[in-house]
Amino acid sequence: MQHQTANQLNPRSPLVLDTKDLPRRPGAMRMVERTVPAPDGLGLELIGITARSDLTLSLRLESVSEGVLVSGTVTGRVEGECGRCLGPISDTLTVDIQELFAYENSTTDETTDEDEVGRLQGDLIDLEPALRDAVVLALPTNPLCREDCPGLCPECGVRWDELPDDHRHEQIDARWVALRELTTKTEE
Ligand SMILES: [Zn+2]
Ligand SMILES: [Zn+2]
Repeated sequence: MQHQTANQLNPRSPLVLDTKDLPRRPGAMRMVERTVPAPDGLGLELIGITARSDLTLSLRLESVSEGVLVSGTVTGRVEGECGRCLGPISDTLTVDIQELFAYENSTTDETTDEDEVGRLQGDLIDLEPALRDAVVLALPTNPLCREDCPGLCPECGVRWDELPDDHRHEQIDARWVALRELTTKTEE
């Protein structure tokens, strides 16, 4: 009992879908269109959905014999850092969601693992784990500000984009420095 209380979903939580209006009859459908604040940490280390920015859910809930199939899209604002030039990245990401949530005590509930197929908790669906997986899969592991980003000059660390075309560093060799000093002295 205590275990159940700890896991109880809050029906008012932005990423919890309430199916109580959806008849448990295969083929019955309901649309969910809502804009909610994005949760923290939705994404990868270098790039992710901006926390608390608008996340637009456009989903269809469909009754199937063993549960509820949730399909549709979630769109949000993405912010990150370019892996080459460390410049800011700002973009919009739309991910496709297609996920089955099994009714409690259905055959699917009894024959599958919870990490394979999600579960309804009473009438409630927690969309967040499925959304996290979809977002992580859709984001690039090595994000770039643009496909052909030239990155940074390895000598001075300035972005090539901000440097003149002929920018280069003289390769100063210690032996040449010594020789140059010697030459200067001789000239004196
Ligand atoms: Zn870049
Ligand atoms: Zn440089």
